[in-house]
Amino acid sequence: MAKGTISVQTENIFPIIKQFLYSDQEIFLRELVSNATDATQKLKTLHSKGEAKGSLGETKIEILLDKEAKTLTIRDRGIGMNEDEVMKYLNQVAFSSAQEFLDKYKDDASVIGHFGLGFYSAFMVADRVVVQTKSYRKDDPAVQWSCDGSPEYELDTIDKSERGTDIILHISEDGAEYLEEARIQTLLDKYCKFLPIEIQFGTKTEYESVGEGDDAETKETEVDNIINNPNPLWKKKPNELSDDDYRAFYKELYPYAPDPLFWIHLNIDYPFNLTGVLYFPKLNNSMEVQKNKIQLYSNQVYVTDDVKEIVPEFLMLLHGVIDSPDIPLNVSRSYLQADTNVKKITNYITKKVGDKLNDLFKKDREEFTDKWDDIGVFVKYGMLSEEKFNERVMKSALLKNTEGKFYTIEEWKEAVKANQTDKHDKIICIYANNKDESHAYIKSATDYGYQVLLLDHVIDNHFMQHLEHKAGDLTFVRVDSDTVDKLVQTDEEKESVLSDKEQEKVKTLFTETLGEKQVVELRPLSPTDHPVVITKPEFMRRMKEMQMMQGMDMSMLPDSHNVIVNTNHPLIATKLLKMKSAEKKSEFTQYLYMLAKLNQKMLTGEEMSDFISKSLGFLEGK
Ligand code: ADP
Repeated sequence: MAKGTISVQTENIFPIIKQFLYSDQEIFLRELVSNATDATQKLKTLHSKGEAKGSLGETKIEILLDKEAKTLTIRDRGIGMNEDEVMKYLNQVAFSSAQEFLDKYKDDASVIGHFGLGFYSAFMVADRVVVQTKSYRKDDPAVQWSCDGSPEYELDTIDKSERGTDIILHISEDGAEYLEEARIQTLLDKYCKFLPIEIQFGTKTEYESVGEGDDAETKETEVDNIINNPNPLWKKKPNELSDDDYRAFYKELYPYAPDPLFWIHLNIDYPFNLTGVLYFPKLNNSMEVQKNKIQLYSNQVYVTDDVKEIVPEFLMLLHGVIDSPDIPLNVSRSYLQADTNVKKITNYITKKVGDKLNDLFKKDREEFTDKWDDIGVFVKYGMLSEEKFNERVMKSALLKNTEGKFYTIEEWKEAVKANQTDKHDKIICIYANNKDESHAYIKSATDYGYQVLLLDHVIDNHFMQHLEHKAGDLTFVRVDSDTVDKLVQTDEEKESVLSDKEQEKVKTLFTETLGEKQVVELRPLSPTDHPVVITKPEFMRRMKEMQMMQGMDMSMLPDSHNVIVNTNHPLIATKLLKMKSAEKKSEFTQYLYMLAKLNQKMLTGEEMSDFISKSLGFLEGK
């Protein structure tokens, strides 16, 4: 037996490795299994070139758990190592790369997926690591390397006839969880699910029903528990795949999620290499979707599901897989964002997603429209946050009116231009953000021949502003705003049925009852409109809404509203003016005002109680 010491430069790295991000200990399994995968792939390459003689035989990787011996073994049938190679690769290459890694990152926990810590990550969970290996070169004797976590190691020749490497981890006491079958299964599912070489972890029972009717019975068979799919969908050619294949793969990734809406197969090898498939999940008009649903792989090795440095924020709503060996993974996150390759990748993904949306819009507008309720939020969010994306999809973005009809922005302009353009040549887009609450206002606007948009998502507040900036000639005003009211007046040059003198009387009545401060305006609206209507200044209301969204204190901004009195309504034109008693007149005025407030959901507390008692009084004929 030979003993030796790994040349340690400054300090003993093993204790550091042990502590290194103890929450991420579990990556040791990925590191070791991907080494096993590399060794197997190298062998396959040598074999295909005729450099490894004989038949290839079994190439499966095995994970073996021995609870009694407290060991976890990673076994491959790859190229293996002879004595010189063990000395070189384990004592020097592996050691110095681990040391380099730690020197660089031990104070920076933000390394993406802690990729590349390599072989020595085994010491995070093991207090002794034994490597038994035999090279594919048949004449080289098998060797055993053993190390207990100190810089001293032992090297021995051993009897091992099978080609390949066993990494035997003697699990330490605080790593006891790694002796649990369920824990290992979970880790293999997480990190190794799509590694390109078959990986077996024990066996499992498969149930099959045989026979029919009364003779039917369940047959149990023990089969190898293969934990991975070595040939995942994203590595295949898009033209060889059917829609069902894509849906099936989605189920494989997210077993409980409803079917995705559509997907994009990413496949590029210049100027960087990237494959993957991104799915649009069913969002159901909500933003409360789980992020961290995109998984990042590097040559089928799982790295992380935290891809915010690579995928633009708005695309984080997507699900799926990105696989790229060109994303530098053993760097810190802040470096990643500045990396030019990563920037190119981000742009590429954004472009692909935009193209897919435009494609769908052009090819099957009906389907696109059907899906808009689900993807609209996503598209708007994207347009708001990424200028390039905004430009790309502007033509495909849809607006929906209160009758459920969809328009592109250009179509919308065409549809309302003639009737809803103001004197500054701005197209007035009237919208409601709640169809029920604004019912009376919507009805009134549509009765005047206006079209009303439905913009009922939180994001729409921002989206409107965005369109006002980007589409130039659009102004959005809520259906109950003072602007809409003015639009009505300038459009329809209606006459009031009241004389100037009578109008003066009405105005005085309202200002006396409601107070000098309240803005009161008289309008000759249609007799079928409400007698008193409350409108709100659009700008002030929007400011308040924005501040509310940001959780700011709104008490600074006054809650102003205008009172519009419809001089053509019979209750004003006839009933009110004919009343004799000043007290009755004032009471009646107050009541009409309260009705208008009720319609705006502005009646609460004492005012509401008063209103109800008054109404009851009327019913009793008081
Ligand atoms: P990396 O894999 O990044 O090169 P590692 O520390 O994981 O770094 O491993 C160092 C070297 O040890 C590898 O490059 C490889 O040559 C050798 N090695 C590790 N595991 C195996 C294995 N299972 N079979 C053959 N060689 C291996």
